[in-house]
Amino acid sequence: MVYADVDKYVPQESYVVKVLERHVEEAKHNLKGSPIVIAGGYGVGSKEGFDLLFNLAKELHGEVGASRAAVDAGWVDHDRQIGQTGVTVHPKVYIACGISGQIQHIAGMQDSGIIISVNTDPDAPINKIADYVITGR
Ligand SMILES: Cc1cc2nc3c(=O)[nH]c(=O)nc-3n(C[C@H](O)[C@H](O)[C@H](O)COP(=O)(O)OP(=O)(O)OC[C@H]3O[C@@H](n4cnc5c(N)ncnc54)[C@H](O)[C@@H]3O)c2cc1C
Repeated sequence: MVYADVDKYVPQESYVVKVLERHVEEAKHNLKGSPIVIAGGYGVGSKEGFDLLFNLAKELHGEVGASRAAVDAGWVDHDRQIGQTGVTVHPKVYIACGISGQIQHIAGMQDSGIIISVNTDPDAPINKIADYVITGR
């Protein structure tokens, strides 16, 4: 085994890190900590559809989350994606609007207290884990 005498070759100053600028950004939302999450999926249909969810979230003092399909469609910011490759939430109430309930999405919200699903398809997979199902749009 070779123990190189690093100090002989690398001066102490080389270990110093200089902080050039400190940039603290305020959190844009409290999705992870919110007791009420209104989540929208591809079934919401548009950015304007998400505006309705934001209005509801404001009334209920909750936060808006989304499925990856809705994020990929550009209707909502990426940092609101819930699931395997997004954030994990466990609010008291989770309202899923137009979300089918694929395993990658469920992984991020299955520990929610009460799950309410709003979906046009009565057989949507998310309905299996929902406490209340509203079949409609
Ligand atoms: C590696 C990998 C990682 C992934 N990570 C994530 C992740 O972190 N999060 C995530 O969400 N997905 C993730 N996905 C994608 C996931 O597999 C699904 O494609 C995605 O969750 C589907 O989103 P959705 O339910 O919104 O869309 P869809 O599956 O298209 O479902 C839309 C739902 O809306 C309903 N609907 C349609 N019109 C209306 C209406 N007017 N009113 C009410 N309901 C309506 C439909 O019946 C349907 O159930 C990942 C996939 C992969 C492969």
